[in-house]
Amino acid sequence: MGLKTVEQYKESLRDGRVVYYKGERVEDVTTHRELSVCVDTMALDYEMSESPQYRDLAVVYDEGLDQEISRYYHLPKDGNDLLRQFDLIVASTRLGDGFIPLAHDIGADALNAISITANMMGNKEYIERIENYRTYLKQNDLAVVSAVTDVKGDRLLRPSDPRQAHSDYYVHVVDQNSKGIIVRGAKVHISGAAYSNELFVIPCRAMTEADKGYAVAFAIPTNTPGLKQVCRPFHSRITPLEFPNSRPIRVHSDSLVIFNDVFVPWERVFLCGEWKFAATMVYHFALMHRRTACAYRIPMTEQLLGVAQAIAEYNGVAKAPHVQEKITDILIYLQTLRSMSYSACLDYVTYGGIPVPNPVTTNIAKYHFADQYHSIVKIIQDLAGGLLVTAPTYKDYQLPELHEDISKYLGAHAGMPTEQRLRMFDLIRRLTGADRETIALHGEGSLQAQRMTIYAEARKVLAECKKMVEEQAGIE
Ligand SMILES: Cc1cc2nc3c(=O)[nH]c(=O)nc-3n(C[C@H](O)[C@H](O)[C@H](O)COP(=O)(O)OP(=O)(O)OC[C@H]3O[C@@H](n4cnc5c(N)ncnc54)[C@H](O)[C@@H]3O)c2cc1C
Repeated sequence: MGLKTVEQYKESLRDGRVVYYKGERVEDVTTHRELSVCVDTMALDYEMSESPQYRDLAVVYDEGLDQEISRYYHLPKDGNDLLRQFDLIVASTRLGDGFIPLAHDIGADALNAISITANMMGNKEYIERIENYRTYLKQNDLAVVSAVTDVKGDRLLRPSDPRQAHSDYYVHVVDQNSKGIIVRGAKVHISGAAYSNELFVIPCRAMTEADKGYAVAFAIPTNTPGLKQVCRPFHSRITPLEFPNSRPIRVHSDSLVIFNDVFVPWERVFLCGEWKFAATMVYHFALMHRRTACAYRIPMTEQLLGVAQAIAEYNGVAKAPHVQEKITDILIYLQTLRSMSYSACLDYVTYGGIPVPNPVTTNIAKYHFADQYHSIVKIIQDLAGGLLVTAPTYKDYQLPELHEDISKYLGAHAGMPTEQRLRMFDLIRRLTGADRETIALHGEGSLQAQRMTIYAEARKVLAECKKMVEEQAGIE
């Protein structure tokens, strides 16, 4: 089969999948008025592998298969491979105007995490299954996303705790036979699931022996019987109140994915009851995934830098010392994210025989992004001024009796057309809405999740530093 074209990708989604959006069953996600916008965003990955400009970055030649494959499914061999994948995510997110395409990127994080876990377990059956599945993904260039976050119920109770209102808050095995397993439960916030071909399912937390049935990982097609998805609403169009813009909208939807007794064949099962390795899998997924997150946050931050500089110039304040200081803060924020992410790839560690970005640096980079994000947005909201929320709409601007007054009174920097300023306010509102703030905080795990990894990974350094100062203090 080989690399898919955009049309082949779209055709592959017309497969009877069960998807709901705004209270209605969606017959075909590729032609649906709103979800088709998400499909086009995911299709950017397929466009890149067809494009002479991006082909070298997006595609690698696989010697074993003697065919070109998506770089995402290539098993990284060293820091340079990690860096090239990083650069690919940055480039694809730039193409997506700040939206990562999702066709292969986050799925590849789960793929590699499962490989690492199988290798660490030394389980030959699992190693063979996941490598066969990797080959299948390579050969068919399938879009695959990662379903990790369970609905969880009471957060402080374990999956198997009898005090949970029911036993299905975490995806778990309810039956098995010679052909495979039957699973039940629900995963939530699963980005791109409604328009991907396949779904990786892995546990979202460490498990105890009592949670054995919840220690399950597998991959299935998104049209598997028993699978139902409910997509979250999103803005797929410029509203009539905003200035028209012919540039395509890029956006994603995230699904509540419900598994009502879904059958998974054994060859697609990568963890089933080995509860001690649930933590290994989710840990390595989080690590790879936070590297991915740092990459796609770079173009998002470039957008923030761009709008800050643009609106400062339009308002005529770009040369004011405090404004330059604030823009410098964004530059430092961006360059810190970029440098730490690059350093994490080059200063990689090897887990289960597979190179992974440095865990501490990756978590600090992602933490830095999420923790400071609101301060950066605050700078933009500050530089934009109150018109960001009170500016008249495009419809007002169009009215003959208002047009001249709005043009006259809402001008700012000499020579700058008012329309340009109003258009920039529209963009800033789209970029800095609450959606993005929540994604910045919660995507790839809450702030606390990164702090926990940073602290856990630092145990050795802490012990060494403590020993060093004890020696310096003359303590035996
Ligand atoms: C837009 C978006 C896209 C996403 N895409 C994906 C995706 O593609 N795949 C995927 O698997 N997930 C995805 N996620 C999920 C994301 O990783 C989770 O939102 C994140 O891990 C937080 O989980 P939660 O939403 O259940 O919040 P909660 O876990 O309920 O967190 C809320 C608060 O409770 C705290 N908390 C939770 N549990 C405990 C505890 N046991 N003890 C103490 N404090 C606790 C947290 O620290 C946080 O402060 C996405 C999220 C968003 C917002």
